[in-house]
Amino acid sequence: MVFGDNTNNIPKVSEDSQDNRILLKGKVILEGIVELQTGIHIGGNKETLKIGGTDNPVIKDANGLIYIPGSSLKGKIRSLLEKVYGTYKIDNDTKNRIPKNNGEPCECGQCDICQLFGPHNSNNIIKPPRVVVRDAYLVKKENNELVKLKEINDYLEIKPENMIDRLKGTAKHPRFTERVVKGSRFKFEVVFNIYEKNDKELIKKFIEGMKLLEDDYLGGSGSRGYGKIKFKELKLINRPKKYYEGNANEIIMPNKPTDNLDELIKILDNDLDKKDDNDNNFWIYDQNDLNDN
Ligand SMILES: [Zn+2]
Repeated sequence: MVFGDNTNNIPKVSEDSQDNRILLKGKVILEGIVELQTGIHIGGNKETLKIGGTDNPVIKDANGLIYIPGSSLKGKIRSLLEKVYGTYKIDNDTKNRIPKNNGEPCECGQCDICQLFGPHNSNNIIKPPRVVVRDAYLVKKENNELVKLKEINDYLEIKPENMIDRLKGTAKHPRFTERVVKGSRFKFEVVFNIYEKNDKELIKKFIEGMKLLEDDYLGGSGSRGYGKIKFKELKLINRPKKYYEGNANEIIMPNKPTDNLDELIKILDNDLDKKDDNDNNFWIYDQNDLNDN
């Protein structure tokens, strides 16, 4: 892959191979907040279990800070999109109805999901996957600053659960699950690598997946009411190749962060050619940029 090919020490590519080059045109960064509408549990490491602790702690990083792993967010959004777009199949021929791909992610390499997230089978990669999902850290409501280690207990609760014995009516198998409390907020960041103009369709697909996630759940025990989330304070930051070369500013849309995912889809659909105050288009991957070598 060739980045910023305006320097002299990068070898020239022969004319006839130019059409096949994979060139990064820029990055679009989606920033915002994941706000918990119900308590969330994303499993941590049980080896940290202490006497008197919980059976099932939430995940924390090496410094003890609470976060939602990028892999959890990405994997959940991907699996929801795969159910909508039919890459998840059940084999009707077998009695046991095991899904054809055993419930694994799509590996075709061709579909939008594979182009966005990368095929499950890395041999089928055609172009580099477009999306990078960062770990989302717990932040304070007032100023979106990281919640420090000594403040973390304010954001945690221990939820007891058990099973009711059907005959005796008594509680069995009590267990204690640690949850991050309702109302907590995590700052998230998603990076889209842009290779061609049509990649905006892939960004729209990802945002569709975020809408699906708002009506689903993140983390464990969703069917028991855990992990309902809402995306808030969303904005798209466009950083074209020229920004990294020092020749352009980033462009942020909308002007005021929004809680509305449809507004972001609308920006990608309709507002791309609008000019900002500095006479920049948000989406500047037009034909000239695509030919700009
Ligand atoms: Zn696929």
